[in-house]
Amino acid sequence: TGEKRRYDRVLLKISGEALMGDQGYGLNPPTVQRIAAEVKSVHDLGVEICMVIGGGNIFRGLQGSAQGMERTTADYMGMLATVMNALAMQSSLEELGIHTRVISAIPMDQVCEPYIRRRAVRHLEKKRVCIFAAGTGNPYFTTDTAATLRANEMSCQAIFKGTKVDGVYDRDPKIDPEARRYAEVSYDEVLQKHLGVMDASAIALARDNDLPIIVFSLDEPGGFRGILAGEGTFTIVR
Ligand code: UDP
Repeated sequence: TGEKRRYDRVLLKISGEALMGDQGYGLNPPTVQRIAAEVKSVHDLGVEICMVIGGGNIFRGLQGSAQGMERTTADYMGMLATVMNALAMQSSLEELGIHTRVISAIPMDQVCEPYIRRRAVRHLEKKRVCIFAAGTGNPYFTTDTAATLRANEMSCQAIFKGTKVDGVYDRDPKIDPEARRYAEVSYDEVLQKHLGVMDASAIALARDNDLPIIVFSLDEPGGFRGILAGEGTFTIVR
């Protein structure tokens, strides 16, 4: 194709909620299939793709602990939720003929591969989509931090954070019609103004390693591929 490729290797981070469609909970297979098709359109360009999927559509540690559950146990439940989401995404991608590996930070040999950095790099070189599951494997972290960690380890050029809005705003655009989208914003401004792109540890880890975060809307059909080509609206945090 004549399309110039800006990125060779990227990480796509989506929340668990992105997979639940209009439901209030869990997984909506047609929604998973739609996102898988977005990933395929980028994979078709020859881009090497890592994915991290959250677990909030099934379980969040903080919610569990707010209701009296022991925090670390609740966090492990959240991590297990991300494994379910990763398996659903794997299934949809393979339906589209894309080779994938689910790689878990918590070994689960019958279900997926354990995380071994060199092995994961090799998968990427062979154009397999690597879906990193179980977050960082540690309680008190989030899948945003896991995404930043894996993106650094895999030498990704950027993290693409697919959300419901087309970038980072100075106020909540769903509440305030005056809210303005940043084209570009610094890591420090995100932290100082609590702009809610990702949690603070994820932002700091990206900042300290010069890893750009591109926030875009995953609801826009063809959005992921367009954003990779530098089209459409998004915010770049760098
Ligand atoms: N989690 C964790 N350590 C990690 C990643 C995730 O303990 O490294 C737990 C945490 O309880 C979190 C849950 O897994 O609430 C689901 O992840 P997250 O909230 O990041 O999902 P998202 O909001 O992206 O759907």
